[in-house]
Amino acid sequence: MLARGTVGWTEFSPFPEYDHQACVPWLQAALEAASSEWPEPIRETVPVNGIVPAFGRGPHAVAMAAQSECDTVKVKVAQTGETLANDIERVSAIRTEFPDMKIRIDANGAWSVREALKAIRLLDEAAEGLEYVEQPCETVEELAEVRSKVDVLIAADESIRRASDPFRVRDLSAADIAVLKVQPLGGVRACLRIAEQIDMPVVVSSAVETSIGLTASIALAAALPELPYACGIGTGHLLAADVVTSPVRPKNGELHVGRVDLDEDLFRAVQADPDIDDLWQARLSHVQDLL
Ligand SMILES: [Mg+2]
Repeated sequence: MLARGTVGWTEFSPFPEYDHQACVPWLQAALEAASSEWPEPIRETVPVNGIVPAFGRGPHAVAMAAQSECDTVKVKVAQTGETLANDIERVSAIRTEFPDMKIRIDANGAWSVREALKAIRLLDEAAEGLEYVEQPCETVEELAEVRSKVDVLIAADESIRRASDPFRVRDLSAADIAVLKVQPLGGVRACLRIAEQIDMPVVVSSAVETSIGLTASIALAAALPELPYACGIGTGHLLAADVVTSPVRPKNGELHVGRVDLDEDLFRAVQADPDIDDLWQARLSHVQDLL
């Protein structure tokens, strides 16, 4: 859902499977974007990573990495139907073609601890040094165990979905890096407060928003006191269409900070059918009642 507030356009786009309670922080984030200016940025541009999907052979992975025009790529690994050998081939092909590229991998929680230990060792070799591994296993306890047994840095992504989660990750020493997303964590300022308190570097990631939603993630990345890693917010191209005339897309691996305006024609082209629209209006009003 998109709406115009007092300071600009905002997006409310919780995942379809989330219940009303889980959507409350998403709505808080949307209200913040609608009604208050972004915190003062520390930087004008934000570095982002490219994405290499977990399919195709080495040359396809190289082409995807090249197309991203980013210095950092995230290679998705451990996908169902793919083998570790396939993952290794893709990572190693990227390394051969781009000696200086930073390569991180994302297993989306798919490995057991045992699988993670083996895969991380082999993929780290293939990459000649991974930047980090995102969510190798599903649970925070498993992340902690893997982290205690490998030298590669561990990032927590799926383990951080609610505002209390980053603290649990920190308290269990389960990760070196926290992946923060604006909508599920309640907004840009809420994320800044979390970042201040968790003593871990932060990577800002999108929830696959339109360009309107992405500007909030950029605002967060721009306002963080430290930003040692490229962020996962160059995701605009993953959607079939966008709703602004100048979509938020990285140039030379960077995104610019700022607001964007809805283009009515582009919006009409992707507007939901009335029955879907009714479902979302009902969803919004349930979540509003819980605020
Ligand atoms: Mg991830």
